[in-house]
Amino acid sequence: MSAVLQNTPVEAIPQIVENLRSAFATGKTRSVEYRKKQLKQLYFLIHDNEKAFVEAIRKDLGRPAMETVFGEVISIKNEIVDTVKNLDKWAKPTTVKAGAAYMLHTTQINKDPKGTVLVMGAWNYPITVQIGPMVSAIAAGNTTVLKPSELSANCAQLIADLWPKYMDPETTVVVNGAIDQSTAILDQRFEHIFYTGSGNVGRIVAAKASKWLCPVSLELGGKSPVIIDHTADLKIAAHRVLWAKLYNTGQTCVAPDYILIERSIQDRFAAELVQAAKEYWPSMTKDVRDFGRIVNERHWKRVQSLISQSKGEIVMGGAEYSEESEKFVPLTVLKNVHPDDATMDDEIFGPVLPMVPVDNVREAIDFINARDQPLALYFFTANDATAEYIMTYTRSGSAVRGDMLLQYVINELPFGGTGPSGYGAYHGKHGFDTFSHQRAYVEEPANGILGRVVEAIMSSRYPPYTPRKLALFRYTLSHSAFFGRPKNPNESNTSLDRGVPKQVRTKL
Ligand code: NAD
Repeated sequence: MSAVLQNTPVEAIPQIVENLRSAFATGKTRSVEYRKKQLKQLYFLIHDNEKAFVEAIRKDLGRPAMETVFGEVISIKNEIVDTVKNLDKWAKPTTVKAGAAYMLHTTQINKDPKGTVLVMGAWNYPITVQIGPMVSAIAAGNTTVLKPSELSANCAQLIADLWPKYMDPETTVVVNGAIDQSTAILDQRFEHIFYTGSGNVGRIVAAKASKWLCPVSLELGGKSPVIIDHTADLKIAAHRVLWAKLYNTGQTCVAPDYILIERSIQDRFAAELVQAAKEYWPSMTKDVRDFGRIVNERHWKRVQSLISQSKGEIVMGGAEYSEESEKFVPLTVLKNVHPDDATMDDEIFGPVLPMVPVDNVREAIDFINARDQPLALYFFTANDATAEYIMTYTRSGSAVRGDMLLQYVINELPFGGTGPSGYGAYHGKHGFDTFSHQRAYVEEPANGILGRVVEAIMSSRYPPYTPRKLALFRYTLSHSAFFGRPKNPNESNTSLDRGVPKQVRTKL
């Protein structure tokens, strides 16, 4: 147990959730004005305490202040501002046109809150992956429990201390603790669970949720590859890859995990990485500036053992430069890494960058497709046909050509995984939708003259059924098909390699 974290008593958890369920039933969070006020309070919780967050995250992760402010504080404040600005529009029922047969009806989609929901976050971005989903949950009008990760204990305690000073304790509550608390919360009934973390715990969450048939969003991780072909500007690619890999010391769910690179440009790219690293961190020792630390001893040992076990050739760094007492692992770049290498088993989540040489883009695509769908896919190519080829024949939660991590910070884009990298999405309106129930609503005139007119039409559906009544429905209700019968129904105009220039398939 952490010395800094005050755990919520396990026996208090059922009542905490019950209170939130009662608060939801009062209708308090149905008010869009109330939600906006809570979101504004959340904004000031971050704004007023920026220094405290920077310091807590420095203690937890050794992370430089700029990375916390740039990557977490600014982005969550922007997300709150955009959400408050758009909330009236998002929360408003959408009227749909249902065709001539329903011209006297009201047909709309209401954006109802789901109820009482749970947000469970991971330690690596304690603000954006913990408070971030809370923005969407509050905006959608739910009552919510936030369970921060115990591994970023300083930040978890800070959130718990600040929460009641800014937020309404009737409608949102922070529960702190480790597996006992998480298990006790997961035993409660929720209407949505939003989990960020590893796939192993994701399976526990989904299994627990199934008891209540509770919908779940799983924001997981995985090995996100980077493809680099010979048309890419290697200097630019090296600077961007290195920045994205080392942000938060590689402990980023969408960090570039490994590189698939054409054999003939591997050494040139390695030289560019070495050059870029010298510019960013003139000396890569434990005293290096602007370079974070590994979250705890267990993870330090795990990353350290990946480097020791790897059979790849070291381009820079190496296990001998690590420092356990400081939880420091140097930037370690490996080349000629075999697909079976220790670094290629699981998500690295540390400052280690293996390069796997391939003969061509087709081989890189086959490599990716033989593994779990990644959370992110990145590629550098100057060739549009290659880019299209990669996008057509791969799957991933998100993809970026020419840079990295941007898909996470652009709030207009849905952020989430696919397959083993997770399911569900959030950020901006996508988060609001995740935490809302789209409730179909139809209103049919049932009183007065209009009610009687509609009834005269609708009465044709009542027994006794007759051919005449059916003919009337065929005439009034059937949509006329605007398409003809397909000639070759099973034929597709895409398949791997078809329509792709030969040089793209076989030679980078
Ligand atoms: P973690 O250890 O902080 O766990 C996350 C949550 O799960 C915590 O609240 C913790 O209390 C709870 N938990 C842990 N073990 C549990 C158990 N046995 N039963 C019930 N609850 C339990 O986080 P982690 O799993 O180390 O997270 C790292 C992973 O998260 C990486 O794979 C990373 O890629 C992924 N991640 C994904 C995203 C995303 O947005 N997709 C963001 C950040 C991190």
